[in-house]
Amino acid sequence: MLNVKSYANKAADLPMEPHAFSLEDPKSNEVAIKIKFCGICHSDIHTARSEWGPTFYPCVPGHEIVGEVIKVGGDVKRFKVGQTVGVGCMVGSCQSCSPCEESLEQYCENETVYTYNSPVDQGKSYTKGGYADHVVVDQKFVLNMPKNLDLAAAAPLLCAGITVYSPMKYMGVKSGDKVGVLGLGGLGHMAVKIAKSFGCEVAVFSRSPHKKDDAMRLGADHFILTNVEDECSKFVGQFDYVIDTVSAKHNLDQAFSFLKREGTLAMVGASEKPLEVLPFSLVFQRKKMIGSLIGGIKETQEMLDHCGKHGITSDIEMIQPEEINKAYERVLASDVKYRFVMDCSKI
Ligand code: NAP
Ligand code: ZN
Repeated sequence: MLNVKSYANKAADLPMEPHAFSLEDPKSNEVAIKIKFCGICHSDIHTARSEWGPTFYPCVPGHEIVGEVIKVGGDVKRFKVGQTVGVGCMVGSCQSCSPCEESLEQYCENETVYTYNSPVDQGKSYTKGGYADHVVVDQKFVLNMPKNLDLAAAAPLLCAGITVYSPMKYMGVKSGDKVGVLGLGGLGHMAVKIAKSFGCEVAVFSRSPHKKDDAMRLGADHFILTNVEDECSKFVGQFDYVIDTVSAKHNLDQAFSFLKREGTLAMVGASEKPLEVLPFSLVFQRKKMIGSLIGGIKETQEMLDHCGKHGITSDIEMIQPEEINKAYERVLASDVKYRFVMDCSKI
């Protein structure tokens, strides 16, 4: 038995507070991990506050987990005690449906098990995530972290990184393409770095004038304020792709206007409110829209290796566990540069 210390909230309108629980020792196929760092994703807030539907409480969010293997089950061959590993948004899937066979576990037809807030043990329990000092995970969902990257700054790759990498690969984004990134937050700033590593010309579309210098420092070629008509009009019809990372209801017609004929908008932002779009925004220039959910385990490892090769990590602000409620308020105010990471060794 592992005694786990964590941060959890007990209801949608209550703050995060210390919470203790226990986990079974790893089964034959499982790995026990002492968590060092965990990124704070906007999805954690959506879930902790029941914005996407009912949440199980106490809710321990966190799916950008890095740490050290402390114990392995008898059948675990890929990981050893002492190894540095990562865990992203998923910890299980059926492993037999066609998406799972294609390593698209996030689209499992029989139910993906998410790192937190997913029912397990025939509904008797539910998963708890990385705002904790330990986690136990099936080895198939454990990732190798590149050795050359700062571990805390690499944690956000496990959700923010893969969530923008996967649609870019799926759409075939390549060198020379023009990519617009809508919203410069955790996902958005990773989209800028990853699109630049693919050799793209990148523009950031943002509501926040104070983010201009950061956008350029992160590698963007252009910064456009979405609420300044004159700035936007120069970029209408210019982009092959727009990666939409906005976490709240926003103007999709404007987002489509930046696409070239037959360009594609990839929706990764997950507003709990419906988004409206005028059919004309799509039909006139045969524009397309896709949705995309994180990425499969194989692709997540590929993304980590790509980031290792190109030295890509997240720009982070480290927080102590007790600062989590303040951090949530700052994420909601778009005031984070550009991902909070919790020092889980201090829980
Ligand atoms: P974040 O750090 O809060 O960034 C979101 C950005 O959206 C903000 O920085 C802000 O950028 C912009 N924004 C926020 N409210 C807005 C509004 N009302 N109107 C216009 N723009 C607004 O969040 P994140 O962690 O990057 O996550 C972004 C979204 O993706 C969340 O909804 C999250 O749940 C979702 N997500 C989806 C997946 C997936 O698999 N599809 C995975 C992870 C996260 P500016 O200040 O630059 O305007
Ligand atoms: Zn996330």
